[in-house]
Parts: sequence; structure tokens; C-alpha cells
Amino acid sequence: MSASPTSAPRLRVAPSPTGDPHVGTAYMSLFNLAFARQQGGSFVLRIEDTDRARFRADSEQQVFDTLHWLGLSWDEGPDVGGPYAPYRQSERLKTYRPYVERLLDEGRAYHCWCSQDRLAEMRDKQQKLKLPTGYDRLCHGKTREEREVLPGFTETPVVRMLIPEDVELQFDDLIRGRVSAPRPDDQVILKADGFPTYHLAVVVDDHEMGITHVVRGEEWISSTPKHVLLYRWLGLEAPRFAHMPLLRNTDKSKISKRKNPAARLTWFQEQGYLPEALVNFLALLAYPPKQDAEGNDVEVFSFEEFAKDFDWGKVNPVGPIFDLKKLEWLNGVYIRELEVGELATRLLPYLEREEILPESPSLGELARLRAVTELIQTRMALLTEAAALVRPFYLADDELEIADDARAQLKENAGEVLATATRVLGDIDDHGTGVLGSESGWSAPVIEAALREAIVDGLGIKPKFAFGPLRTAVSGQRISPPLFESMEILGKTSTLARLHRLHDELSQG
Ligand code: GLU
Repeated sequence: MSASPTSAPRLRVAPSPTGDPHVGTAYMSLFNLAFARQQGGSFVLRIEDTDRARFRADSEQQVFDTLHWLGLSWDEGPDVGGPYAPYRQSERLKTYRPYVERLLDEGRAYHCWCSQDRLAEMRDKQQKLKLPTGYDRLCHGKTREEREVLPGFTETPVVRMLIPEDVELQFDDLIRGRVSAPRPDDQVILKADGFPTYHLAVVVDDHEMGITHVVRGEEWISSTPKHVLLYRWLGLEAPRFAHMPLLRNTDKSKISKRKNPAARLTWFQEQGYLPEALVNFLALLAYPPKQDAEGNDVEVFSFEEFAKDFDWGKVNPVGPIFDLKKLEWLNGVYIRELEVGELATRLLPYLEREEILPESPSLGELARLRAVTELIQTRMALLTEAAALVRPFYLADDELEIADDARAQLKENAGEVLATATRVLGDIDDHGTGVLGSESGWSAPVIEAALREAIVDGLGIKPKFAFGPLRTAVSGQRISPPLFESMEILGKTSTLARLHRLHDELSQG
């Protein structure tokens, strides 16, 4: 079954489950999905698990989880099914066999019994003699019996394509126009273990699944002529191709999981990036921002806005640099745009991970988190930065530790400041605490007015020095959320206990 040429576009992403999902899988999914959604087409997730040596069982679930996290969802796939199931290549082995038989019967492919050792020797020799590397066709045209008597024979053969001399090495690419690729060698299409190689499986599956547009990384450009040949030999209509520019490190090298932690999709979750910021960033890597009415770049946009007038012709074919500074900036923008309650919810897993909050926080703990979140929303570029800012609000007063840099900035008059603050704050009426926005009782404006009057005006200490000791006492840190609001959220009892504690400590020391 395959889609007719007039039907809506069908696109796919085809990750191999070989470890933590690569950031490239999200990048490819995003561009595939943008076009599919814009055209009212379908987006398919296919798992290419024919490389059994590199297969990792938990990897497939991680692909599902990370793409779901990013909101890049698919219409058909191994988990959701669909009309072209199964969507795992290892479950489709029967599908490939007839295609291989046909290629063998028609002389387009041949068996090869060469051992790995022989192939390695052959390659060494070619390299030493500076000859083009590639299979030397020792097995071509031979029966098993004829080949068996020659050296370097193995029992189980592979099947190779017989690449003709006059192979067409050019194809049209939606991003790059006419592309030339190097001449391929006699590619293996069926391995000794009976599994197809990527090259055969991708062609058969894309055809069987009615894929109309193959959008993948530029590293596959050199394989495309082989695929085009297979389509032709098998009498199938080839899809259209778009080869996306590879993501590059700042030194222009290809992003790999070995060298760059940011190549792993799970890394972005761990580090506290928002999925919508990452999606926006990945789009910007290969796609120019729109301009506003004044001609300024509009760099912040949603997936829907991106998909709306997506155009392959605008994709920049040059390998984009993966600039994490830009992503961090975008993340801060998205954090500030979130509704406070939503941001608090997004912070929960990070606070649980740091054991600041339990897995199921109480309503009181959640209400406090919402209040604190409002204070820190503009002070974060990453969700992970919240932990240090939030922690003081969940510690018992006698558990709060004073950071060294906060302690170091305390001046001689710190004791006097603390004592004065304790006295005036003690006089504030403690009714209806903990609700920001209130202007009477234990509230930020009342607290601030009382402290300014007593310390800045009364003791004649400049605000910069007046409030440092109080900040240190209350948060244990040199930099903290706004002081008066923090005191309001902590409540009178806790605030006074913390002021006392530092005061006592200073007078003893
Ligand atoms: N399994 C291949 C990969 O992980 C898919 C390439 C393609 O999209 O054709 O890159």
C-alpha cells in the first residue's frame, strides 16, 4: 500500500534506538512536523532498529518521552499504531525479502561471501595504493561453489547492490537544489544476519508507508543516489528529498554525543530548559526569523507560528552553530512569559529532585511555592536555578546555613541592624500573613516602611548596607529574592527567628 501522488504529504522521522536520543532527532522531527502540519499532512515515527549491534532497549522509550516532552507528536508510530503498522523495522523483516529476491533475480544485486578479514585487507591495500576504496567485486558473477574455493570465504553471504558505471549522481533537493553526490560502491543491502541494511529498509519502508517527503540530515546526501537507484530498479516513485544542515559545535565540528553533552536530548531536561524554548531555538538554527513592522527580527515564536508559513526554500543549507548562550537567553524569555502558577508547576520536578519539596507537596507548600515563584520569575534563565532561590523558604529556621560570601559581606554594624530590625518588626501586627499584595499587617510594604524608618533614617545607614545583614539572616545568601516580599512569605515568626539566630551568632563570635 502506498499513498497516491495527489494525497496529502506524509513525512517521517526515523531514529535508530542506539542510546540517549540525539538532539538531531528533535531538530529533524521539528522540520518534518512543521511542513506536515502546514500542509495538513501526516507525520510518522518509525524506529530503525536493524543495527542490532548498536541497539539499546531503553532508547526507544526515551525517543517517545523526549519528543512528547517537546510537543513534537506523531500521527502514526510504534506506540500509537496506524494504517502502515508495524512501525519498527525489526518487526518488518518479512517485508524486505521479496524486494531483495527481485533485485537478485534481475541481476541488480549479488551475493557476497567475503569475510570481514578479507574486506579489511582489501581496504588497507586500496588505501596504501591511494586507490578509491570500495568493494572489488570478487564475488560478483560467481556461484557459491566457485567462490568457496577462493580465500576469505564465509558461510553466510550478504547481498550487495551492483552499482552501474553510469549511475546518476545528481538529485534534486528541496533545500539545496541540484545536488551532486560521490560515486557509491557496491552497497550491502541485506546483512548476513538476515536484517536489511539502512539503505534497503529506508527505501522499502518509505515506499510502503507512502512517504512523500524524506527530510533528514545532510550526512545522508551521499546515500541518496543509492536510494534513487533502488527506487528506479524496483519501479517505485521516489519521494522528494530535503537534507537539513548538520548541527555544529562552536568550533564547527559535528555535534556528537561523545564530545558534547548538549547532543543528548535528555540533557536539556536535566539542565532546566523549557521545551518550547528548545523548539524555538532548533527552528532558528536553520530558519531565518521573520521581521516585524519596523524591520526587526522576531526571534521568539511558537511552533504554530513557525509552521504557518514554513517554506523549504528558506532553510539555510549551511551548518548552524549550536550556541547555547542564545538558547539560555530564549529560555529566560519563555520563563518570564509563563503564567506564575504554570511556572511553579514546571519547577516542581526540579525542586523534588533537589529534595526541597516532597513528591506530593501539601497545599500549603504549593501555595508558598507560587508566592516564591512570583518573586524569582525574572531571576532565572534555567529552571535548575530556582532550587537555590527557593530552598530558604522550605528550610526550618535552624537549618538555614549562611553562605560564606554572604557572611563575608557583614559589616561591624550588622549586629545593630539585626537588633533594630528585630525590634521594629516585632511590633508589626501579624494578621493575614503570607498573601502578597496586602498593604497592612505583616506585608511587604509595611515591613519595608518600618525597616527604612528604623535603619536607614533612624540609624543613618545607607540602604545598601542596611539590608545586607537582613538578607543574609533570612536567606543565608548574598543574592536572594526581594527581601521584604521574602519576609512576608516566610511570616513573622520565621523571619524573627532567623534574625535572632544570626544576631546571637554574631554576638557570640
Ligand atoms: N535511521 C536514520 C538516522 O537515524 C534515518 C535517516 C533517514 O531519515 O533516512 O539518521
